[in-house]
Amino acid sequence: MHLKIGVILGDGIGPEIVKQAIKVLDKIAEAYDHTLTYQELLLGGSSIDVHGIPLTEETINQGKTCNAILMGSIGGDPQKSPWYQLPPERRPEAGLLGMRKAYNLFANLRPATLYHDLQHACPLKKEIIQDGFDMMIVRELTGGLYFGKRKTFLNDGVLTAVDELVYTADEIRRIAVSAFEIAVKRRGKVTSVDKANVLDSSRLWRKIVEEVHVDFPQVDLEHMLVDNCAMQLVRAPRQFDVILTENMFGDILSDEASMITGSIGMLPSASLNDSKFGLYEPSGGSAPDIAGKGIANPIATILSAAMMLQYSFDLDKEAKAIEEAVEAVIKEGYRTKDIMTEDQVLLNTAQIGDKICERIK
Ligand code: NAD
Repeated sequence: MHLKIGVILGDGIGPEIVKQAIKVLDKIAEAYDHTLTYQELLLGGSSIDVHGIPLTEETINQGKTCNAILMGSIGGDPQKSPWYQLPPERRPEAGLLGMRKAYNLFANLRPATLYHDLQHACPLKKEIIQDGFDMMIVRELTGGLYFGKRKTFLNDGVLTAVDELVYTADEIRRIAVSAFEIAVKRRGKVTSVDKANVLDSSRLWRKIVEEVHVDFPQVDLEHMLVDNCAMQLVRAPRQFDVILTENMFGDILSDEASMITGSIGMLPSASLNDSKFGLYEPSGGSAPDIAGKGIANPIATILSAAMMLQYSFDLDKEAKAIEEAVEAVIKEGYRTKDIMTEDQVLLNTAQIGDKICERIK
């Protein structure tokens, strides 16, 4: 295949970790006979430094010429970086929201996997985690409370704020289809999370998810209230395969799920539209506290590249080769500082990238 990949190096540790992911992608291209070309795109702080704004029309248009986009995280230290003296709509994060909107990236996929050899990092008890867990959170990303109308006003002299939570049946249907399709490729179970005992938007959510389920009889569907799901994630995380949920619930639950793996530097993510175009990035931030030291864990970004191969290009074999190479390197005891424990071998960012490349067959 001939593929053009947009690359956002990003801020903080972004350039260091993206470099390793590209090294791994180049190794895959060589081993599996693909041609990959890269187009650099500016987003976030590095775009502010050049253009004064976090996302330009030019970047959006350049991105549209690519088959998918790989990105390191964006943003700086909110206490120290001059980017945060700017009004909110010109700060780094506004660029990311703008990009999600420009490409209609409505499906956010965040796996939370506890690797057998990293179980010590999990804050839960051994009897709860047993031999690990592996779930995928599918979060609706372009609707709901974060995109509704909002206002703050004086109501009879009392300061009052309103945020609207809107979902249409079509918005729910397309994210539900994504979740069921993913479940078919995994262990065949969808847990749809809502607050249907209180919210109308959740009752519509439940109705549409049940309609979509009819087309996926091989997948088991269960509904769970969001408060219960927050508890179940720490009580019995092994019960989950695919969690399907709306924007704000997904924001909170996906962070909870990543926390219980204990290793943010290991977790990839993807945001997709309905033509399989996607933005792939590590779940963590730009880690300004360790930027430039060469100690960041590149694995989340390398696994994001694997997700890109699988979800945007249907290159399942190649994606698996990366995942197996990562698992082998972890099993052999190679670690960056964030996941280092006694008796393991401490490597820097580039050395971990090299080890993963060496194990790609
Ligand atoms: P963070 O995830 O950047 O850092 C939290 C902690 O995790 C830090 O101690 C950091 O050193 C560590 N860490 C994160 N990724 C790591 C890696 N790959 N290897 C080793 N250690 C790693 O969160 P934060 O400090 O709250 O945010 C920093 C900046 O990142 C902020 O500007 C924030 O807005 C931004 N951010 C961006 C994204 C994104 O680009 N999608 C996501 C979250 C946060």
